[in-house]
Amino acid sequence: MPHLLALDQGTTSSRTIVFDERGAQIAVAQQEFEQHYPKPGWVEHNAEEIWESQLATMRSAIRRAKVQASDIAAIGITNQRETTVLWDRRTGEPLYRAIVWQDRRTAELCDRLRADGHNETFHRKTGLLLDPYFSGTKIAWLLEHVDGLRRRAENGEVCFGTIDSWLIYRLSGNTDHLTDVSNASRTLLYNIHELDWDDELLGILDIPRAMMPEVKPSAGRFTELDRGLLGADIPITGVAGDQQAALFGQACFDTGMAKNTYGTGAFIVMNIGEKPASGEGVLTTLAWQLEGQPAVYAMEASIFIAGAAVQWLRDGLGLIKTAAEVEDLAKAVDDSGGVYFVPALTGLGAPHWDPYARGTIVGLTRGTTRAHLARATLEAMAFQTRDGIEAMQRNANLDLKELRVDGGAVKNNLLLQFQADLLETPVLRPKVVETTALGATYLAGIGADVFDQASIRSHWQLDQRFKPAMDRSERERRYHEWRRAVERSKGWIESS
Ligand code: ADP
Repeated sequence: MPHLLALDQGTTSSRTIVFDERGAQIAVAQQEFEQHYPKPGWVEHNAEEIWESQLATMRSAIRRAKVQASDIAAIGITNQRETTVLWDRRTGEPLYRAIVWQDRRTAELCDRLRADGHNETFHRKTGLLLDPYFSGTKIAWLLEHVDGLRRRAENGEVCFGTIDSWLIYRLSGNTDHLTDVSNASRTLLYNIHELDWDDELLGILDIPRAMMPEVKPSAGRFTELDRGLLGADIPITGVAGDQQAALFGQACFDTGMAKNTYGTGAFIVMNIGEKPASGEGVLTTLAWQLEGQPAVYAMEASIFIAGAAVQWLRDGLGLIKTAAEVEDLAKAVDDSGGVYFVPALTGLGAPHWDPYARGTIVGLTRGTTRAHLARATLEAMAFQTRDGIEAMQRNANLDLKELRVDGGAVKNNLLLQFQADLLETPVLRPKVVETTALGATYLAGIGADVFDQASIRSHWQLDQRFKPAMDRSERERRYHEWRRAVERSKGWIESS
């Protein structure tokens, strides 16, 4: 019986999951790795450790599943996006630590590029903004700061890759330098209209094209595993960045379908079909491409603090002992009693993009209790989601019919009911909320002809549907008050 292996390389851990040919999870292995913070705002990973932890979890997941490597029909990869690795093309040795997506060291470079009027060019061609989040300015930083690197890069001796690319290189025995369209679209260097690296953008950042990987569709044949690793020639047939993989794992295959992942932050991604609409305040990105088919685009709104605000109630304030307790505490009151909590603890992401905003609690009275604050914290996840979705709908001119949800916070029924009320749209929680790994598996299955999209659509199973129940005037009154609270949180830090 054919099995599929999903490599889920995340920001804090590497995981491997073995799925059977119906998409059911058989075994999982996970290994955390070290986070390096060499300076304030800098975040690095050791690329070698990422590789070793990934390989170790591959081996132990296969062992736990009690299958042979030769029973694995295909491998799918999903990964933390934007994180940047440079390595020696000949030896496969990393040339510096991986610079992680969260790293802010290129903020000044981005300010400079914006001041020179480049933002519009990057936005038009890549769907992104000039922000340190994306890979492009991280590569530019490395070329400038690592001794001798630029000359070697110009000679074609250096490979750049996001984490998918790095893993593929190692998995293929240091031979294949590849990535997929969804990961390429997060680099600030990939033209999402022409589906190619963009010479003008490479020129602005002074990055030699020779460093860039070949870009493939997300489902199709990438390469084969080096036989020495697991003792079998297993093909890699699916690759996508984590949020795009989650959209695929949620079977959001039609234009206008969207998912939201409520984890530390929240990531709303909407399928906008085969034409890239450009968005004010939200990003346009490639969702995926299946071999032989047109690319599919998505709009994305990234919210930096969602479940992390619940962690703050737990660790910062000590109001609750576990994240799960927040639901009962919030249920102790009927509403937030006029309290609004804007959790701009690290600034605001989409659609406001204000790095100078800070967390703000408004509407406190003598009657305010910890229960009101707990409720306001949960409601903030839903309010921020509505901000993101409204911006997408304005830009893409699409009507959201339902929102599929996943991530650690979707156990919380109160949150999901409020979300449905606030969007006036049904919210659907699937049975399997491990949608990222599932998405990688589905892509790999399609690439290896084990699955087709129709069968994946029918695999998707509902756990619970939350129907909107709040009356319109109440909903709009609350949302209006939220928007006033957001205005008060903006621009709090005065730039020096
Ligand atoms: P990530 O993948 O970003 O690390 P997860 O998807 O594992 O995050 O989700 C963890 C987040 O979900 C934490 O921030 C936690 O505070 C939040 N969370 C967990 N359980 C609940 C709950 N019952 N209600 C609200 N938030 C929760």
